Amino acid sequence: MYERIDLHTHSTCSDGALSPAELVALAATRQVQLLALTDHDTLAGCAGAALACAEYRIEFLYASELTSLWRGREIHIVGLRLDAAAPALKAFLAGVLTQRVARLRAIGTRLTRCGLDGERLVDAVLELPGTPTRLHLARLLVAQGHATDPDDAFNRWLGQGQRAAVAAEWPGIEAAVAVIRAAGGLAVLAHPHRYKLSAGGLRELCQGFRDAGGEGIEVSLPGMGPADAGRAAALARRYGLAGSCGSDFHVPGLPWRPLGRFAKLPEGIVPVTERLAMKPDGSAALEARTPLAS
Ligand code: MN
Ligand code: MN
Ligand code: MN
Repeated sequence: MYERIDLHTHSTCSDGALSPAELVALAATRQVQLLALTDHDTLAGCAGAALACAEYRIEFLYASELTSLWRGREIHIVGLRLDAAAPALKAFLAGVLTQRVARLRAIGTRLTRCGLDGERLVDAVLELPGTPTRLHLARLLVAQGHATDPDDAFNRWLGQGQRAAVAAEWPGIEAAVAVIRAAGGLAVLAHPHRYKLSAGGLRELCQGFRDAGGEGIEVSLPGMGPADAGRAAALARRYGLAGSCGSDFHVPGLPWRPLGRFAKLPEGIVPVTERLAMKPDGSAALEARTPLAS
């Protein structure tokens, strides 16, 4: 059994602050035994992270956090143990990237209308490595004095209903789950407590997610209070979803959001690691575990 795992992390290949190799080095100091790199809509950092994990004898899963839509709401779905070479997944990620760039350009046009140099700002975001996100743009708005911090940038400019807001056209949850399965992966509903859904809404989301082929749900994350964790565990039991856990790590130095979570889950929840241990064809998916150097 695993003591400490982390199945939800970000690097500079999306909106995280550490390179994949730096992230893995930090995971090693935290005694993480199984790590998934889940950058937004990309697997660009996974090859590098896998190499670094091999050095530290950390088991590694190719993974990504896919952005999707359900009833007009942005829902994140983590795909674990993905085949990066799967043509369906490559085409899907390329389409999402095209959509992201178009949205950022439209936001840039709106910022220009508000008297900012929107085109230049967006060009600068698109030159950064990794998946371009609104958070990158928010950080630039802060750096140029147009907001006090990224949250302020969303409240003033980028957030829903604000001056430069542009709605996104993400794939539906069914499409996201389908492509994860097509790439041999296991679909996990990310951070259910963050969607501002009613209890009934969350149940409908979980039902739709499971009907689409989703297999897991995050039940242990920093920032989940006991009530949130209890609700997530109840959803896992009700819909037969395996429990996953991670930190949703983005930046170092937040003591309340360290990398690595204890792998033990509440009673009656099947750990997602158990389902990951077998591929759809029945063969073992994770390599035989090597004892950790102490
Ligand atoms: Mn992020
Ligand atoms: Mn997310
Ligand atoms: Mn995340």
